[in-house]
Amino acid sequence: MKKAANDIKRCVACGVCVLQCPREAIDIYKGCYAVVDVKKCVGCGICEKACPAGSIKVEEVRDGIQ
Ligand code: SF4
Ligand code: SF4
Repeated sequence: MKKAANDIKRCVACGVCVLQCPREAIDIYKGCYAVVDVKKCVGCGICEKACPAGSIKVEEVRDGIQ
């Protein structure tokens, strides 16, 4: 199972991933960085391709643990 995970140190909170995600799985936490709701994420990779900072990545996870 694949899920998106964000490196909050690299994220610039631009919101591009929020707009691109087809599952509405991403929110910007307090205007600071993007957080992924792994229960909604289907691992499609659209956010990873769209992110200008290269901070959000789709990774293989096991049993829902990243
Ligand atoms: S991998 Fe797809 S579903 Fe998951 S957060 Fe990114 S755009 Fe949304
Ligand atoms: S597109 Fe990238 S830099 Fe912009 S909010 Fe999403 S994870 Fe952060």
